[in-house]
Parts: sequence; structure tokens; C-alpha cells
Amino acid sequence: MKIGLEVHVQLPTKSKLFCPCPTTDAPAPNTHVCPVCLGFPGARPMMNGKAIEYGILLAKMLGCTVRDTTWFARKIYFYPDNVKNFQITQYDRPLGEKGMYYLNGKKPIRITRIHIEEDPGKIKRVGDLSSLIDYNRSGIPLAEIVTEPDLSTPAEAREFLGQLIRDIRHTIDIPDDGERSIRCDCNISVGIERCEVKNVTGLKNVERALTYELVRQTKLLKAGGKVVRETRRFDEERGVTISVRKKELEADYGYIDEPDLGIFNVKELAERLKIKESPQNMTLRISKEYGIDERTAKQFVSTSVELAHLFEELAAATDAETARMWTSGAVSAGWKAFEARGGGDTAEVISLVGKFRAGEITDTECNIRIRAFLTGTDTDEVRSGSSDLDSMIGEYLDVNPSVIEDYRKNEKAANRVIGHVMKQTGGACSSADIVDATKRLIEERL
Ligand SMILES: [Zn+2]
Repeated sequence: MKIGLEVHVQLPTKSKLFCPCPTTDAPAPNTHVCPVCLGFPGARPMMNGKAIEYGILLAKMLGCTVRDTTWFARKIYFYPDNVKNFQITQYDRPLGEKGMYYLNGKKPIRITRIHIEEDPGKIKRVGDLSSLIDYNRSGIPLAEIVTEPDLSTPAEAREFLGQLIRDIRHTIDIPDDGERSIRCDCNISVGIERCEVKNVTGLKNVERALTYELVRQTKLLKAGGKVVRETRRFDEERGVTISVRKKELEADYGYIDEPDLGIFNVKELAERLKIKESPQNMTLRISKEYGIDERTAKQFVSTSVELAHLFEELAAATDAETARMWTSGAVSAGWKAFEARGGGDTAEVISLVGKFRAGEITDTECNIRIRAFLTGTDTDEVRSGSSDLDSMIGEYLDVNPSVIEDYRKNEKAANRVIGHVMKQTGGACSSADIVDATKRLIEERL
């Protein structure tokens, strides 16, 4: 089985790709529109330079070659969502080509190209014979990332997409607003011919749509039938794909170069733009540089890049093992509360761990003070609250983070904690409560 994806990402510009209309949520249909994005005769597109910058950053992140010049094309087709009867996109000179991107840092996925294009409008069917069209979306800048068919299973496609989205968000600062800004066309072939499932939204749906196609195509081939090259859509409610039309060939679109925009020389811009380290690369680097396992590194980075930075600062101030222990323990435990309070300077944490390492304070004291600092609570309060069952377990886990590691391999590792707490509470709590609380708190930290 071969799977290739075409991923559409909305670029986080303030205005549309070729006009000053805002990209924010519109108050009503057809309110964020102007003669340019409505394709009125005589209206001329003007390039939004920020979209080109974002496109180049993504091209670099994907290891693509950015050529010195790039240009746009008109993709001609007739459909009500496409008000000009052509979509401005890129055809024979995309922003980036021939990239390489590694799934989990290991499996190479070839990137065919990344180009920029405008989004069409939105059609809303009302009854059998009528439709309404909203052009607020037309002209919204998109980057389209096309992969080679290098993915092997629906689950792998989902994993790839998840990693890609995290890296894209980090590279061009897209706020984490769920998966609504990502749409995906999925190409899948079990035999020779492939089908395309258009416009699937969300990771889970990508996996569901591909799994459905895998079963459908396999059954069809086994029964002696033939898979036809076609475009299908995914019905989210029923979990099935439905044939929409015969797949059109690129030649059907009658591409011509876009005369109103001309040629863009992006050589200097591409040289000047530097990309930030992607979360995926950061995970691999941290794991290698500090000798910690990849899962732990991934846990730090996916919690937040700032937490991973703090780990590195701690490692520099003390040593890698001390840093790993405190970061996966007390610091991770209080991190959400710290971020909820707006985050900020973490020098206090580094100083506390330094004091612990120098033998000036005990691990329990260090733990209490780090928690108090991150959660913005009084240390006395943290101290007195620590008699609760939860905090007793939490403290044990903070000091013994290896329990979490062991638990991943074998759930019996929880017994160490349970035994400890049973002794401490001396029968004051029911064993069922202790077991429940222990499992819950460990699961929270996995
Ligand atoms: Zn406009």
C-alpha cells in the first residue's frame, strides 16, 4: 500500500493573499470581500509578501530547494466556489521542491513540492436545487505541501501529519487552534491505480478515510474488480468515502502563467530567512546531546519548548541526570500551572536545583519550593497540603521518576508507590483509594 498526502495549511497572515481584506472570522457571509477577491473585471491582485516569507520558511523546514525565482499560474476551472473561473496557484515554478522530511527522525518521507495558492469560496447547499456561496474564504493564503507516496499505513499517515503540524506551527507561529487550519487530500493505492480522497479535516479522519479506502480497494481487487482513478470525498458521519468524479488530469486545467503578478526574485529573501529548530529536531538533539531517552525528550518538547529550554539550562547549571530528574518530576508537575499564570523567568528553579545539588536543601524541600514557585502558592501551604493522598503520591513520583519509566514497560511498577503510601498512611486510607489515586497520577505523567 502506498499513501501520499497533499496538506493544505492556512498561513497566518493578517490580510488575504492578493488584497487587503482581513483573514479574521467575518461577522457575516460575504463581508470580508472586495473587487480583487471577488474577481471583478479589471481588479488586479497584489502579492502579500508575508505569505512568501512563510512559504520559504516552511520550504526550508521541509528540506526543499528554494529556487532563485518563482512565479504564479492560473488554474482554470469552472465551479461556483471559484469566482474568477481560475484559481491563482503555482504550477511549474513552486516555492520549494524536492525536500526530505523524517518521520520520528528515522523514516524519510520525500516532499515533492510546496507551493502557495489562494483558497476558493465556500458552498453551502440548501435544499436540492439551491446553494449559497460565501466568498469570505476566497483569497485566504494557503501553502500546499505535497508528499511522494512514501507512507505505508493509515496509522503512519496520521502520525506523520501530527508531527508535521507541530513542526509547521512552531516554524511559522500558528497558534494551537485545534486542527481547523489544516485540510488534507489523501492519495492511496493498494494495487496500481490510486484514488484521491479530497478535503479531509483532522488527524483522526485522515486515518479513518484511509482505512476505509484500504479495505474497499483490497476487497475490490480480491473480487477481481478494478480500482478506477477517481476523486472521492469522506463522509465523516458514516465513515465512508464516496465517489465524486473521475480524476481530472493536470492537463485538463489549462494552466497559464499569471500575468498580473510577474516573476518574484526570492534569492536574497531565502538566504536571509533563518528557521527555528523544529520540535522534532529539538527532541532528537536533546536526546542525543544529553543522553536521555527519546520518549522523555519528546515529553519535554511536546509539553512546551520553554520547558525543554529550561531542561537545557538546568543541565548546563548542574548535570544532565539531575536536570532530567527534576524536569520530569517537580518541574513538569507544576508546569501547566506556571504557564496558566503567564510563565516567565525560571531562574528560581535553576537556583533551587543548584542548592539541592550543593547539599544546602533536601530533595523534599527543593520539591516543595519548586512547586510553590511554579504554582504561585505559599511554601507553607504546599507543605501542609502534602499530607493529602494525592500530594503524597505526587511527591514520591517526583523523587522517584523511574517509576513512571518502569510503568510504561510494566504496570506492576505502581506497586512500589502503593506499598510506600500504605506504610505512610498506616491504614487511614482504603487500599482501593490508594491504588486508584496512584494509577491516575502516574497516567497523568505518562
Ligand atoms: Zn479582497
